[in-house]
Amino acid sequence: MADLNLTKIIATLGPASAGLERIKLLIHEGVRVFRINFSHGTIQGFSELIANVRQASDETGVPVAVLGDLSGPKIRVGQVAGDGIMLQPGMKVGFIREDIEASLPWEGPIVFSSTLPQLIDEVMPGQRVMLDDGNVTLICTERLPDRIVCEVIDGGRIISKKGINLPDTRLSVPVLTDWDYECIEFAVAERIDYLALSFVRSAGDVRLLKKRLAELGARPFEPIRYREADLKEKPDDFLFIPVISKIEKPQAMEDLDAIIEESDGIMIARGDLGVEMDVAEVAVLQKRIINACHNHGVPVIVATQMLQSMIDSPTPTRAEVSDVANAIFDGVDAVMLSGETAVGSYPASTVRIMSRIARLTNRYILNQKISHPIPRVMQESKYRSAALALGVKSIVHDIDARLIFVYTKLGGGALYLSQLDMPRPIIACSPHPATLNRLALLYGIHPVLMEPPEHSSDFIRRTDDMIQQNEWASKGEPVVFVYGEPIKSSGLTNTVYIHYVGDFG
Ligand code: PEP
Repeated sequence: MADLNLTKIIATLGPASAGLERIKLLIHEGVRVFRINFSHGTIQGFSELIANVRQASDETGVPVAVLGDLSGPKIRVGQVAGDGIMLQPGMKVGFIREDIEASLPWEGPIVFSSTLPQLIDEVMPGQRVMLDDGNVTLICTERLPDRIVCEVIDGGRIISKKGINLPDTRLSVPVLTDWDYECIEFAVAERIDYLALSFVRSAGDVRLLKKRLAELGARPFEPIRYREADLKEKPDDFLFIPVISKIEKPQAMEDLDAIIEESDGIMIARGDLGVEMDVAEVAVLQKRIINACHNHGVPVIVATQMLQSMIDSPTPTRAEVSDVANAIFDGVDAVMLSGETAVGSYPASTVRIMSRIARLTNRYILNQKISHPIPRVMQESKYRSAALALGVKSIVHDIDARLIFVYTKLGGGALYLSQLDMPRPIIACSPHPATLNRLALLYGIHPVLMEPPEHSSDFIRRTDDMIQQNEWASKGEPVVFVYGEPIKSSGLTNTVYIHYVGDFG
């Protein structure tokens, strides 16, 4: 079952991985979701990346998802002359509204511009201005009509376009910029599989994106979660674009449950999180976010610096291996690579080692019978699919089933099973390629294209052949089927069936 890894791998595309053959190689090594960072590049470039992923998926026969990552109100320093300016502790630095090129002045403080002109209206004396991923710390000491003045606390070299974080400032800017709106329209036109939203501060921010998606004719995955009755009326070609909220702001931690409730998935964006909050708290925040997602039955991704040293080195540090494994122990849906696959020297080796860590860790979890609490929200939902999935979990444990098969039109039934972190792979069969791509992100799920079966016995016969061809289980071993009866009109999940491979009575 080498190809049936339970924890999914997300790879960020960039110059090191953009070509068709490289994408196919990464799929072969285990990537099931490709992330396109809309902060870097052009719409034309993104379109080519998506075309390459779709073609690679067709040629390999492996459904994969494309996740578009909206930049949000990321603030950057404006232009800086030459090879940058070295800031020393104690120096005075100004930020102004105008767009200028910063350079070392003959006299007076250095003055920078930023991509957010109203920054000078929002930062108050005493608040921190962090530059370059938190490597440089300034404190605002004075607000003047045309500028803020800051004192350098921790120095460093600042070059053009370095990031600015304002951890102490409640910015009034909307979560979506003009560029984000352009990217959203593009994403809908491309029928992208997931959209991630950066710098979410409240559930209202998530609603803003969902509202725009709805105006463009797309809807989030969320109704599938707990409102299965909705599904029956939906046409097969309905466009779902699930929304993943990136948690990276202190304000998001304050509104965490409401954000999770409003989202189809959560990404722990540890890069900015470690700048906006105390870096020493990152592991605790990660645990809190994962636990909250489990409570709600919402997919969760751990991102950033997972195998960072492999950007330049063919092997990871031992601490990185442990970090990836610990996220898997905590039961996350997916672990994400950023610079490692976007600009690194060893993208394929990085994915290969991540796959191996996932496989070995999940094997240990299975042997030790480690399990996570049942999502409270699922338990309380009173929905048939949720209750059924809970029953499946206990059957799988009791009979030590090798696999779970689910026939699903839009993916709802599969999502419930996935969020119960089944110890064995869930083969999700669907006639809809878009459903299969979406499911590729979820823990434990292996999407397989299947024309609608005539009857449930047809479904079981076909999957029995599939098991034997792929050597997923041996004759006589138990597998569990989950589907709706009658299967042809499946928009609901109401049946569990235990089958022994090859046994047709
Ligand atoms: C992060 O900050 O960790 C992250 C994933 O977001 P981005 O790569 O857009 O900075």
